[in-house]
Amino acid sequence: SSAVRLRGVTKTYDSGVMALGPLDLDVKRGEFVSLLGPSGCGKSTALRIIAGLAAPSIGTVELAHHDTERRGSHRIGFVFQEPTLMPWATVRDNVRLPLKLARAPVADAEMRIGAALDQVGLAEFARAYPRELSGGMKMRVSLARALVTDPDILLMDEPFAALDEITRFRLNNDLLSLWRDLHKTVIFVTHSVFESVYLSERVIVMTARPGRIGAEFRITSTEP
Ligand code: ADP
Ligand code: ADP
Repeated sequence: SSAVRLRGVTKTYDSGVMALGPLDLDVKRGEFVSLLGPSGCGKSTALRIIAGLAAPSIGTVELAHHDTERRGSHRIGFVFQEPTLMPWATVRDNVRLPLKLARAPVADAEMRIGAALDQVGLAEFARAYPRELSGGMKMRVSLARALVTDPDILLMDEPFAALDEITRFRLNNDLLSLWRDLHKTVIFVTHSVFESVYLSERVIVMTARPGRIGAEFRITSTEP
């Protein structure tokens, strides 16, 4: 069954820029899909619409049987290109934020935070402040913060774009096993062909013409 289903989604900004569409997209539950394409092709716009951070001009967005109206923010984890951490708060407090923002108190909050930090390999840095961390580590905090609510869908908008190549490679390498264990529905936006092929099960290539899909291919595991 589809976790994410877009039909005829377009976006025209107030400036008149036609940023998207019409885009049809289906992502299955538990699937890891990359949206690959040149800058300006509407990848971020598509992701923000799926997250409910922007409204489509036309078209429909359905997330796992829930319509746009009923979408609870706790069901979506969003990782932005910039880690956007609170500088005055420890790693642990940064990761706690979405639980504090939840409408109802979250049971086992402290345990969940610990588990999320473990998942991204930062358990020992729980009491550190963002300024003490490298770019890659900040990105891991940002990912832990997105995972702490156990979202149904994880959306990532070029999460590693600002990192140097080696850090980026190490993160990809470390995260690969995390994805396999999580079995989450993930939509990963990237300009990087390498990243998309390395991480995803399916790559959707968007054209420079906003929101149009140019090609799509499935990555077959090379493991026996
Ligand atoms: P990326 O390719 O990494 O998504 P962009 O340079 O396209 O980055 O956009 C960066 C941010 O600036 C986005 O949040 C987007 O909403 C905003 N933005 C991009 N183009 C415009 C524009 N023409 N007018 C207003 N905001 C824009
Ligand atoms: P991508 O993520 O693929 O780089 P975006 O979705 O950021 O693409 O942008 C698609 C198009 O929409 C671009 O032409 C961009 O300048 C424009 N755009 C993005 N955000 C805004 C915005 N907030 N206001 C106006 N135009 C925008």
